[in-house]
Parts: sequence; C-alpha cells; structure tokens
Amino acid sequence: MYGDRGNIICLKKRCEWRGISLLIEEIKKPEDARKTGCDLFMIGGGSDREQSIATTRLDPLVKEIKSWIEDGVSALTICGGYQFLGDYYEMKNGEKLKGMGILPFYTKAGVNRLMTNLLVESEQFGNVVGFENHGGKTYHNYATLGKVINGYGNNEESGEEGLHYHHLIGTYLHGPILPKNPRIADYLIEKAYERKTGRMLEPLNDEIENKTNQTVWERFRHSKRTKYTNEA
Ligand code: GLN
Repeated sequence: MYGDRGNIICLKKRCEWRGISLLIEEIKKPEDARKTGCDLFMIGGGSDREQSIATTRLDPLVKEIKSWIEDGVSALTICGGYQFLGDYYEMKNGEKLKGMGILPFYTKAGVNRLMTNLLVESEQFGNVVGFENHGGKTYHNYATLGKVINGYGNNEESGEEGLHYHHLIGTYLHGPILPKNPRIADYLIEKAYERKTGRMLEPLNDEIENKTNQTVWERFRHSKRTKYTNEA
C-alpha cells in the first residue's frame, strides 16, 4: 500500500544507472528470505489489518532480520514496517499487535490519524519530503532522520521523524520516499555496495531529483499542520 513499492523501482534504476545488477526477491514466506539472505531489504506499510497478518508471517524471520541489521545490512522500513521493528503497536481499538522486538520501542495509536505532507530537515540527508498517513505514534530514543518542519513524524510531541540505527532507516515517509530523496536512496545502496564489494559508489547526476525535492519542499514548507480525525 501507499506506493512504497516505488522504492524498489528507484533502487533498481539507481543501481542499473551504475551498471550494478540488483536481484530483487519478493518475500512471501520466511523460508524464501532464509535461503538467500540479503544486502538490502525493504518492508513497506499497510493498514492495521494487513499489519497483523504480516506480523505473524514475519515472526519466524525475527532472528535473521535482527542479525542482518546488527551486521550492517541496509534496510528501509516504512510506517507499518517501521512500527513492527519495535515491541508492539497498540491499535486504536486497544488491541496490541506484537512487534518483532528487534529494537526496544513501541507505537500507540492516538485519536487523530496523522495524514499530511511531511517535510523533515535532516543533517545527514538534507531536506527530506514525502507524505504520512498513520494512526500509530512511535516513541523511541534512537537517532532520528531529523526535525519535522511540516507534518507530525514519529508522534505529535517530539517534533522528530524516523529512526536511524546502523544502516537501518525507519520512517513514516511514503511518497515513495526514495525517488524524491536521492541522498537516502544512495545511502542505502552505498552501504550495501561497500559492504559487499569494498568499492566506493559512483555518484549520479541528480539534477531532476533535486529539483523535484526542492519544488515539493517550497510548496509545503510554510503550510500549517493539518489534523484529521479518523472520520475524515
Ligand atoms: N497501520 C499503521 C498505522 O495506521 C501503519 C499505516 C501505514 O503503514 N501507512 O499507523
């Protein structure tokens, strides 16, 4: 959901443009992942219902996913995929979805659905743009992607968005996030490529991507946060 699959297309193209062939595997069952291992993985978002199914399906993979992250594998986990790295996600109806418990944090749904254009000022990745659409509010003490300029991010209190641990990025940014934020895309590819080959990644000409990012940033950087109720 939410177009997160577009991140895979972006990663594939940014590798192809460098002559790097990227083998992409869609993991439908844990044994698929166990067989191949990986240099980079992405878990996208989903509604609460899908999330509860995915949480159960991913349970047998927790040990592998934790070791990949600790071993410096690049990872992009988005919204629901970000939430279930933690211990639990308490949905609006009070039901607690068990997370993978890979990092000690939690998510709790609030009254309002947090749905708006999300702009983040990141020391490492510059101006980061996208949109967010989540009920869950996430609380942790890890490094974040940066400061929220418009929107909500992790929750309505901290003014911060995302999580950054080793080469794992957790984020509420849909969009998909990577095409309009090439520095994040290349961070994930660079860490995977260096870890696998020991070679440096060649830069790309990101003129179009940066212009797109700037256009979105300028369009929303002065807009007020908008708060929607779930009824909207
Ligand atoms: N179902 C979760 C929530 O509402 C995640 C939503 C998403 O992945 N966009 O917070």
